[in-house]
Amino acid sequence: MRVLLVEDDTMIGEAIQAALKDATYATDWVKNGQTALTTLACQHYDLVLLDLGLPGKDGLEVLANIRAKDNPVPLLIITARDGLDDRLRGLDGGADDYLLKPFEMAELLARMRAVLRRCNSPTGNSRFYKPCWCARAQFCRAAIWKAASMAGVKK
Ligand code: CA
Repeated sequence: MRVLLVEDDTMIGEAIQAALKDATYATDWVKNGQTALTTLACQHYDLVLLDLGLPGKDGLEVLANIRAKDNPVPLLIITARDGLDDRLRGLDGGADDYLLKPFEMAELLARMRAVLRRCNSPTGNSRFYKPCWCARAQFCRAAIWKAASMAGVKK
């Protein structure tokens, strides 16, 4: 399993890289959005971990760029941005999950396994990817809105 980690914070990046290595993932770590896009254009990855607050190109721009190219790579956002708007933009923009910092490495690894389970087509046919993340983003959006309305949050 090859993972692309997009994270500009050195301490967080080093901690994630070490945890992924222990979990036997091969990890490439880049620190800005443009390098992430360049790397994704010429390398296959099984999963992308994407920070949102990045120098230059913002993580949401990077996500939009990846999906605009019909790249179906499973993608998990890791960010400190906890606003509903950011979460909706991330999930509706094609992220498969959204994990808030700070998080425990054990939870990151569990969410990565869950995303990989859900997104990897049993036939290995990549055309099954896109409906997978589209349907889930809509489902998550509905679930989040339901939770928000139950919590009394106004739209
Ligand atoms: Ca950052």
